[in-house]
Amino acid sequence: MKTLLLALLLAQTSPSDPENPLVRDLLRELIEINTTHSVGSTGKAAQAMAAHLRAGGFAPSDVQIVGPRPERANLVARLRGTGVRKPILLIAHLDVVEARREDWTTDPFQFVEKDGYFYGRGTMDIKSGDAILVAEFIRWKREGFRPDRDLILALTANEEGGDVEENGIYWLLKNHRDLIDAEYSINVDGGNLETKKGKKLLNELQYAEKGFLSFVLEVKNKGGHSSVPEKENAIYRLSRGLVRLSDFDFPVILDAGTRAFFEVVAVREEPEVARAINQMLSTSPPDAAAVALISQSPDWNAALRTTCVATMLEGGHAENALPQSAKATVNCRILPAQSPAEVEQTLRRVLNDDQISMTPIEPLSQVQSPASPLPPDVIAAAKVVTSAMWPGVPVLPFMSQGGTDGTHLRRAGIPTYGISGIADDSDDIREHGKDERIAATALYEAREFMYRLVRELAAPER
Ligand SMILES: [Zn+2]
Repeated sequence: MKTLLLALLLAQTSPSDPENPLVRDLLRELIEINTTHSVGSTGKAAQAMAAHLRAGGFAPSDVQIVGPRPERANLVARLRGTGVRKPILLIAHLDVVEARREDWTTDPFQFVEKDGYFYGRGTMDIKSGDAILVAEFIRWKREGFRPDRDLILALTANEEGGDVEENGIYWLLKNHRDLIDAEYSINVDGGNLETKKGKKLLNELQYAEKGFLSFVLEVKNKGGHSSVPEKENAIYRLSRGLVRLSDFDFPVILDAGTRAFFEVVAVREEPEVARAINQMLSTSPPDAAAVALISQSPDWNAALRTTCVATMLEGGHAENALPQSAKATVNCRILPAQSPAEVEQTLRRVLNDDQISMTPIEPLSQVQSPASPLPPDVIAAAKVVTSAMWPGVPVLPFMSQGGTDGTHLRRAGIPTYGISGIADDSDDIREHGKDERIAATALYEAREFMYRLVRELAAPER
């Protein structure tokens, strides 16, 4: 069996692969079901995919549609394994961001094939992932694949917005944890195969997300006539606090995931940068000069530390009056290793002014979600399949800046890894934007990637 598996891994996918038409047809069907919050329904999409799974041989009891209401329904299906190990949960969301016909070149809810691309809202985010998972579940069933653990499929609602109570993953964890409980989850919506000018660079594996927390800062003042100003002024006072914040950097925290990220990055960088990264990784506390150099990249800076930045400002009420109030919104992205309360305390210390009030916008308990550990078997499987399909492309463990369903799962104690193998051109990001599209080859290769990855993770011969 081992040799057979190896042969399978080395086989390359081609555009004429007989597995491709199914995933394309599923994607077409999903694109043409509107699942936006304003007019759409994930229920229709869930029903459509459930019908395909049942036609593919899944028992009706293993294909369930559940949710708070039909328009926000979720699909949960189960491919039964031998049960030697705990299940793996595979997730992608069914809802999509709003898209207006007049903003697009084509109708966003029509599946359009053009010049090797598929166009439509959700082609990248993340109906491609839904189609891939459904197609591969059907294929595993057809092939009689009996994994050593159940494989659970969850296609869910309200990832892109709407009431969190109706977020599919949140709702399932709260109401039907039994249906989705797993050793860990693979989130197809979490990481991409990063490409630049057609060259494949990195296969991302998201293991953590930063927490999102904003504060409203306010200074109040009795005000008065602007013809007789006083030294004490709400706008000036708030501004001085904000300047102190702008001069401040949160400390660097290097956990196992961040180290793994920079180790991969270092190999690919110019010698000077690579030296600085190695210097940072080998010193404790991390060498300040090296950190300063690395932090010049906003992306890397955000990977190293919690950030808090002023994003909105308002103050005063009349041209000829002293301001009675000055307000700023400060948005923080918090490392999983830091608590929101700790960040709040640090902010107060940095602002260093009792007269600047600070009110959190998000409930502190909903902010944090822990980093998932990087288990050797998941990393090894991702590496072996990635290098078989795209030789020379490394797997990059990374922490995203927040915003996927992984955050709910991690908070609930289910480690989550965002990986898809879907090629995404870093110079042409269209998720949430106009004329969203996926290259046909990217869809087909990602389908094959997911097929092989899951077989590696759940192969009975291991
Ligand atoms: Zn998404």
